[in-house]
Amino acid sequence: MTHNLPPLPYPFDALEPYIDAKTMEIHHDKHHGAYVNNLNKALEGNPELQQLPVEELLARIGKVPEAVRTAVRNNGGGHLNHSMFWKIMKKGGGGEPSGDLAAAIKNTFGSFGDFKKTFTQAATSRFGSGWAWLLIRGGKLTVESTANQDHPIIDGGKAIFGLDVWEHAYYLKYQNRRSEYIEAWWNTVNWAQVADNFAQAKA
Ligand code: MN
Repeated sequence: MTHNLPPLPYPFDALEPYIDAKTMEIHHDKHHGAYVNNLNKALEGNPELQQLPVEELLARIGKVPEAVRTAVRNNGGGHLNHSMFWKIMKKGGGGEPSGDLAAAIKNTFGSFGDFKKTFTQAATSRFGSGWAWLLIRGGKLTVESTANQDHPIIDGGKAIFGLDVWEHAYYLKYQNRRSEYIEAWWNTVNWAQVADNFAQAKA
C-alpha cells in the first residue's frame, strides 16, 4: 500500500487562538507530509513491508531490515502519531471527558486535575523532541513520554492520545515557551474522539 497524508479534519485556523493557522498549515502539509513521503520511500522495493499498515510496521519494527529500520521507525511513527493528533483536537474542544474514560482517569489518577498535572509534567519534562501519551500498558491506564516520533505500539503500549511537543508544533506562536503551549492546548482536546480511542484500546 501507499501511505497517504490524511486531510486535516478542520480548517487550518480552527484551533485559534490556541494553535495558530500558520503552524497548523506547516505542521500538517510539510511535516506530516514529509513523514508520509519518506515512509513510502523507505518501503520502496519491499513489497512485503508495503502491504502492512503503519501500526503493524511499528509493532514489528525489530523485524524490519536494518537498512531501513530507523527510517521506518521515525517516519512511520511520525505518520501514525500525527494522524492521531489531528483527530484528538477540534474547534471548541477542551473541558473534561465523560463516561467510561472519565471514570478510568479518576480511578487511576485520583481526579481529572491530577491526571492533567501528571500528563502536563510528562509533556513539559520530555527533553528535546517527543510526545506525551495517555496509554494502556499491561491492562493499566498510564502516562508516559517518548522521544522523537516513537509511538507506544513499538513496545506494546496502546495509545489513547498523545501531545506533540516538538518545537515545530508551537515555535511560531510560543517560541521557547513550551509550557504555555501545553496549557493552551488543553482547550483543543476532542474528548469524544479520545473516548473512542479508549474504547478501542480496551477492546
Ligand atoms: Mn509534529
